[in-house]
Amino acid sequence: MDTWRNRANPGASSLKSSVSWAQAERRKSDLRREPAKEEPQRILVVDDNLDNVEIIEARLTSRGYLIESAANGEEALRRIHEAPPHLVLLDVMMPLLDGFEVSRRIKRDPSLPFIPVILVTARGETEDKVEGLDAGADDYLTKPINFPELEARVRSMLRIKRLQDELDRNNRQLEDVNRQLTRLSITDGLTGLFNHRHAHELLREEYERCRRSGESMAVIMFDLDQFKELNDTHGHPTGDAILSDTARILLKTAREIDMIGRYGGEEFIAILPGADEDSAARFAERVRATVESHIFRDEGREIRMTISAGVAASQGTELPHPDELIRQADRALYEAKETGRNQAIRSSDLPAGKG
Ligand SMILES: [Mg+2]
Repeated sequence: MDTWRNRANPGASSLKSSVSWAQAERRKSDLRREPAKEEPQRILVVDDNLDNVEIIEARLTSRGYLIESAANGEEALRRIHEAPPHLVLLDVMMPLLDGFEVSRRIKRDPSLPFIPVILVTARGETEDKVEGLDAGADDYLTKPINFPELEARVRSMLRIKRLQDELDRNNRQLEDVNRQLTRLSITDGLTGLFNHRHAHELLREEYERCRRSGESMAVIMFDLDQFKELNDTHGHPTGDAILSDTARILLKTAREIDMIGRYGGEEFIAILPGADEDSAARFAERVRATVESHIFRDEGREIRMTISAGVAASQGTELPHPDELIRQADRALYEAKETGRNQAIRSSDLPAGKG
């Protein structure tokens, strides 16, 4: 398009390009002034010679920077920790803590954000520059200071600082999103319990852990009785409300270390690390009794529900494979349903041939 326009009307195009050039120059000078326009950029000047501090301060203040100063390394580190500046101009030759050491400590400290460090020294020997850069300094200036060079390096470092800060912000946002995604991927949307897939993962992990430590563990399968009839009579929203209430009952009855998942439609799983069959059966019975006495409410209706449970646990030192634990709990649950519902049955109580 531009080529065509240039050919068709060269006069207009040269006018246009000179306007663009002026705009570009204005943008460039805007960029140069940027540190002064937005939040003022704070620069910490560290030098044991007050005259040096004052000269640099006068120059950079006139460019819109906010200058703070420190007369030695300790004071510099204290100020940096109180309020990290956007940049540090650091004299190398100082008593006690020299600039190399201060730079090392700034760069090594994981509690600090990225702070560009420009070393300033009278010594211009190559090995000093090498030591400075090895100490983590980002740039190097020699005295006597050439002020246009100082300003250019400060601008350049502050640009890098802005980009680095933006990168850090983006990374933090990404980590937040990842955490949310992880949470969503392991959670059942309706009840907030662990979903089927994650319940299986937890079961395998707990199995491995209990096997190593020799702890017992138990699995309980719960299933709300005649839930399909309820859905047919009252509709799915009511069914959902009852599932959520049941999840709350399970969570309230469970110990901190127990894991509760929604296994399927109206089926729940409880993984109880360290529990033997007796304590697991007590847990199942508490849940059963609570559900039976609970009044589920939905749109002014009061609904009564019952729940059946199948309990399976390690016997003595014998810890069945997770798949086997689930199979046993399932069979016990099936038996509870077949023989009247609203009861918790232990897998070890099943008649021979049924366990
Ligand atoms: Mg000095």
